[in-house]
Amino acid sequence: MKYQSNQSIRRRFKAVELARRVAVSVSLSVLTGYGIAQEKQVDSELDGERPKATAPRTTSNIEELVLVERGTLPVMISAPHGGTLRISGVPARKGEGMQAGPAGFFTGRDGGTEELAKEVVAAIEKKLGARPYSVISSTHRRYLDPNRPAEIAYEDDDAKPAYERYHANCRLHCDEIMSQFRGGLLLDLHGQGSSSQMVFRGTGNGKTVSRLRERFGEESHTGDTSFMGILNDLGWRVYPKPYGGKEQSGFTGGYIVQTYGSHRTEGIDAIQLEFGSEYRNEANRKKTASVLAEAVSRYLEIYVPNHK
Ligand SMILES: [Zn+2]
Repeated sequence: MKYQSNQSIRRRFKAVELARRVAVSVSLSVLTGYGIAQEKQVDSELDGERPKATAPRTTSNIEELVLVERGTLPVMISAPHGGTLRISGVPARKGEGMQAGPAGFFTGRDGGTEELAKEVVAAIEKKLGARPYSVISSTHRRYLDPNRPAEIAYEDDDAKPAYERYHANCRLHCDEIMSQFRGGLLLDLHGQGSSSQMVFRGTGNGKTVSRLRERFGEESHTGDTSFMGILNDLGWRVYPKPYGGKEQSGFTGGYIVQTYGSHRTEGIDAIQLEFGSEYRNEANRKKTASVLAEAVSRYLEIYVPNHK
């Protein structure tokens, strides 16, 4: 036979496609379970969300690449990995010679977390009548990773201003919060792909909330009125639980909470939150944000009562 009929080509295509899908699902199933590292999540849209029809935009406008807002509450929201924009003239990072893994090179985005961070800012304002500080990357992680030290964060000099904008404003915001309120809370929002219905805490096992623990005792970190205790009370599935248990390896808190956390003299109590997809998909984001705002409100009442 010189040529294949359309039908047989279609049949062969289907067989190849089926084999490809099986391969994908096998590689995904390897990634499930708590043992996996922080950000070995596939770089794809979230469950239940369609891939964006439009190609990602490219810009050199630094104010678009990193969104910054000065607030009036002792709370700062950070979200380094949810962006989609490309930076003009900047190729995708290659990570040559770099270690991969939770503290190393990775380019997959935390889908839905840029949108979630914006929803959280709005929900806190609705709840408390004032806005938190925020620093949100709209840049895709292929070009910039603000949750890493500079040498792993970008490879092209044209990405450096966005990185510096992210960190200069984290610094400024923390300084301002501490000088005005003598205490506060930084929440660094991320997405994890290992447990869709779970939210993991990362504090370096209590290190990045050192000041809170010194002032209010271990209960403030491990008790029912700790931030995770409050979230659990509001119906979230949180880890570790009991809250004094060890944080999951790979989710213990990255560069941002390590840099701005209160184990440092000039730091602020800082918690990294790693959201499963059910907390950050389009259908649930608003709910997630409103519960988080309620938790922030309760937390401030107890630990930063002068926030009003
Ligand atoms: Zn992340």
